[in-house]
Parts: sequence; structure tokens; C-alpha cells
Amino acid sequence: MKRTIFESDHELFRETAREFIRREIAPNVTEWESAGRVDKEMFRRAGSAGLLAMAVPEEHGGAGVSDFRFNVVIVEEMMAGDAFASGMCITLHNDVVLPYFLELCSEEQKGRWYPGLVSGELMGAIAMTEPGAGSDLAGIKTTAIRDGDSYVVNGSKTFITNGINSDLVVTAVKTDPEQRHAGMSLLVIEDGMPGFSRGRNLEKIGLHAQDTAELFFDDVRVPVDNLLGEEGSGFVHLVSNLPQERLSLTAGSLAHAQVAFGWTLDYIKERRAFGQPIGSFQTVKHAMAEMRTELDIAQSYVDAQILALNAGELSAEEAAKAKWWVTELENRVISRCLQLFGGWGYMEEYPIARAFRDARVQTIYGGTTEIMKEIVGRSLGL
Ligand SMILES: Cc1cc2nc3c(=O)[nH]c(=O)nc-3n(C[C@H](O)[C@H](O)[C@H](O)COP(=O)(O)OP(=O)(O)OC[C@H]3O[C@@H](n4cnc5c(N)ncnc54)[C@H](O)[C@@H]3O)c2cc1C
Repeated sequence: MKRTIFESDHELFRETAREFIRREIAPNVTEWESAGRVDKEMFRRAGSAGLLAMAVPEEHGGAGVSDFRFNVVIVEEMMAGDAFASGMCITLHNDVVLPYFLELCSEEQKGRWYPGLVSGELMGAIAMTEPGAGSDLAGIKTTAIRDGDSYVVNGSKTFITNGINSDLVVTAVKTDPEQRHAGMSLLVIEDGMPGFSRGRNLEKIGLHAQDTAELFFDDVRVPVDNLLGEEGSGFVHLVSNLPQERLSLTAGSLAHAQVAFGWTLDYIKERRAFGQPIGSFQTVKHAMAEMRTELDIAQSYVDAQILALNAGELSAEEAAKAKWWVTELENRVISRCLQLFGGWGYMEEYPIARAFRDARVQTIYGGTTEIMKEIVGRSLGL
């Protein structure tokens, strides 16, 4: 299916992103997968290349371009360049963390943080999940108790993407621990604040180049000036950003499945068994036909959601539908593709092996498949 959502500016930007990945990421993927994190210098270079925080207004150093299609171009190129885990620090920063700064910063905070978010001097993270609370976000226990001009923060977070490398962590805290949703606020906790420490860089099934970490807060004094938005409105702010966060995951999932399909199509044309290419066996041909069809259907759906987000019309329910369905499709497609590689599909030297490992988490983070179905179900009045 021919896609129609991109214009010439997006295609030019695609060239920039592709070249950046080819030059700055691809040669280092193996090293960063072993190290469990990327080199932060790459992130700063992404800033210099214009790939960070494009929506920040020009007076603060950004491009002032608020068009999610540019974000989608980056995530698609990351997947096409087999740089899912290595590039996630960029996509999380742009698609998930930046919106909080764009929507909630005071004038003073804009001056303090925007230039670094654009240049790559400041890498963002978002810390909601705790060891005892993930899906049930209102159940978090990290507290921020007001004392003069500061909040005193105590607690811990886990599974935080960019957890080791980040400089600014948008942290969900309870400013009123007696309340559930209404007691939540968002504080920007900065690298180096006394009492803020990083725990383990967690060992995961996949996404090995992405640092996912525990964070600890032990009497961290965070200035009131680091509050994002209104005290007590943290939950509302988090929920309002979920459609974009989920669409970023959805678009990435689909791009991941598309690239795996492409590798597989090439492979089954070359690989021979019983004297013929395996792609010519009817069961294989039909498997590929089914996947091609499902991917095309998904692409139309996701492209419509991208335009809806740009128009300010993507609802939480619509984003939830696409997130669960496309991430499940990604896992189904990549697993089927791996099967068609036979034993070679299980070998690290073939990218399909890493894609299989990396895909698994997509139905879990950003809201699990079950929670997405809850959201859709509730929208039906159930
Ligand atoms: C690699 C990785 C990166 C992550 N990055 C971040 C990050 O940057 N920031 C951050 O804050 N978090 C992050 N997370 C956390 C992630 O968002 C949570 O793991 C996820 O929301 C699920 O929460 P949980 O792990 O506590 O599972 P739980 O909430 O304990 O859920 C366990 C199971 O119960 C099911 N379940 C729970 N409630 C219901 C219900 N009402 N109905 C039906 N089933 C239900 C779930 O679907 C799941 O299958 C990351 C996680 C991973 C693995």
C-alpha cells in the first residue's frame, strides 16, 4: 500500500535520520549491546544533527516544529537501521518525555531546560513505575513532602528507560500520600542531586543496548521550582500524554514488524530446500501473504492515528486499541518470520534473533495489553 501521510520535508528529514543512524549508531550497536547502554556522546550528536526535541520553540533553540510525523520518521528509521534499542534514548526523549516539558514548563523552566533538551546536554527519562506499582499507577509510594522552598523526596522507582544515562527525570510522586490520583505530582529530579542514586542497570531478555534501571531517592531536596504543572495534578498530566506515548510505541512496533518481514522475504527467496526456494512452498507463500496483508491493514490504521494526533483528535481509547493490537501483531509477525529462518533464526548473527527478543516487551511497557483492553472496554460503557 502506498503511504500518503508524508510530504517532501519529512522525506528530507528521513535522509538525515538514516544517515545519522548509519554513521553514528550502526557501527556501535554490538559494543553498546554488550555494555548495556549507549555512549551519551551519540545522544549529543543527535542533538547537533537536529534529531532531538524538534517541537521546542525557536527562541529556545528548537526547530519549533510540532508535527508528530517527524517523530515517526525517526522511529521508523531506527527500526529500519536495526537500531531499536540503541535509538530508544532518542525516541523516548522526543516522544514520551518532551511533551511534559512542552506543556507544563513555566517561563523560567523553559529557559533552564529547553536548550539542553534540544542540544542533547540533557537526556530525559520518565519515572512512574515502582517495585510495587506498575499498572496501578495511583498506588505509587514515593513521597514528596513540602518543606519550605523544597520537596523532600523518598522512595524508589524501577524499570526506568534511560535510567542510567538520563540527566532530568520526570518523576511521579505523592505530594499528598493520603490520596490516590489526586495526591500525585510531577517533579523534575536532576542528576547529581544529593540523595538521588541509580541502582542496577537491569538485565533484560532484550533491548540490551538500552539502560533500564532502578532509581533511589533518599531525602532528596528538590526545589519547588522543579515542580512541573500544578501540585496534585500529576495523574491528569500523565494521562493526557498517553495517546502520544502509546502512538510512538505503536508506530515503532509496526516499523519493527515491517523490517523483519523484509528480511524474511529476502531470505526465503534465496534459501533452498528440496531443490527449490523455501518461499515457493505454498504454506510459506501463504504465511507471507497473510503477514503482508495484516501489515498493510495496520499501516493504514496507524497512519490515520498519526494524522489524528497531529489534529489533536487522538483519544485515549483509540490509542489504546492500536497499541495492544499492533504490538501483538509485531510479536506474531516476528515469531513467524523467525520460524522461516529455521535454525539460523535462532542465531545471534541474524538480526531476526535480536528482533524476536526486543519485540517481547512492547506488549508490556507503556501499558500492558490487558490494561489497553480495560481502557477500550470502559469506553464501551462496560
Ligand atoms: C524494558 C522496560 C522499560 C520500561 N520503561 C519504563 C519507564 O521508562 N518508565 C516507567 O515508569 N515504567 C517503565 N516500565 C514499566 C512498565 O510500564 C510496567 O512494567 C508496566 O506498566 C506493567 O507494570 P508491572 O510491571 O508493575 O506489572 P503489573 O501491574 O504487576 O501487572 C502484572 C500483570 O497483571 C496484569 N494486570 C494488572 N492489572 C490488571 C487489570 N486491571 N486487569 C487485567 N490484568 C491486569 C497486567 O496486564 C500484567 O499482565 C518499563 C518496563 C520495562 C520492562
